[in-house]
Amino acid sequence: MANIVIDRVRKSFGAFQALKEVSLTINDGEFVSLLGPSGCGKTTLLRIIAGLETASRGDIRIGDKSVIGLAPKDRGLAMVFQNYAVFPHMTVYENVAFGLRRQKADETRVKAQVAKAAGLLHIEQYLDRYPNKLSGGQRQRVAVARALAVEPKVLLMDEPLSNLDALLRLEMRTELKTVLQSAGTTTIYVTHDQTEAMGLSDRIAVMHGGIVEQVGSPVDVYNHPATRFVGGFIGNPPMNFIKVPVSNGKVVVGADHLPVPREAGAEVVLGLRGEAVELSSLPQGLEMKVRVAEPMGSHLLLTGSIHDQPVRVILPASETVKNGDTIGLKLDSQRITWLSPESGKSYS
Ligand code: ATP
Repeated sequence: MANIVIDRVRKSFGAFQALKEVSLTINDGEFVSLLGPSGCGKTTLLRIIAGLETASRGDIRIGDKSVIGLAPKDRGLAMVFQNYAVFPHMTVYENVAFGLRRQKADETRVKAQVAKAAGLLHIEQYLDRYPNKLSGGQRQRVAVARALAVEPKVLLMDEPLSNLDALLRLEMRTELKTVLQSAGTTTIYVTHDQTEAMGLSDRIAVMHGGIVEQVGSPVDVYNHPATRFVGGFIGNPPMNFIKVPVSNGKVVVGADHLPVPREAGAEVVLGLRGEAVELSSLPQGLEMKVRVAEPMGSHLLLTGSIHDQPVRVILPASETVKNGDTIGLKLDSQRITWLSPESGKSYS
């Protein structure tokens, strides 16, 4: 079993708490992303799991054994970090073969595994080159190939695709997912790119300010954000947040009176995904003042305001709405998230 348990881990750098108290279990064979903005503690957590950094408190268990105090090489994991450290004095072939040689694999296996990993990362044509003759993106692919070649049980990756152009990145993402799934590798993947996290992960841990705000499947964190931060960080456009008054346990949305959770006070925040609306007439619909209408090809993006609060919504490309229009919107009440204006937490 190669499950990973992160148990109440804290990390301070001097007086600064980079990780406040993080607990997270990654199941055997699962792909979990640590997603969050710059500085939220993703890399620090990954480095603690790898053994490159020590936790101030808490425990890390891999396969049910505590690895605190073990050197990185004794933790039974492979890693790919942002700075894609490839060995400059070795050819690409030798770089990719490195872990296999350390495992004393025989030459037939080395050859086969290098060919497989190189094929996957499209670096076959560079196998004889030295890293200084490669671009940043090519070097990064060598680092990923080196990690995959040993078919690790546990793989830690920190923004491994950050130096690739958009198209290659998309292709590598798909390849990575397929390979890791079929190998049953337990993977922790650090990224600040929500599209990448959504596409790759079984579950996403959304981090913010040294804590994990929510852990869930991509669909779950998208549709049911636990906090305002999560709703705003995930999704493009981000979730809209509209503060509305509550009267008799309901809010008035155009002609609809929608019940709100019992815990809500005099006001509630209505969290609305941009696409969870459709065009309707006024006054039945909720009034939106459109400042800018942008035809995106696949859809129409509208930026404006509802109750004087900024919103972005998405309509089918076929709708004709112009800058300056006032329109009515019907909300999909099943897709509303109700949040507390004070705590920013959702009520469900
Ligand atoms: P990024 O996406 O920018 O890499 P991150 O979420 O990975 O961000 P970390 O690198 O984990 O963030 O850093 C978390 C916080 O800890 C940051 O505020 C950073 O400045 C601080 N930090 C990280 N390493 C050290 C260190 N060695 N000494 C002092 N502070 C540090």
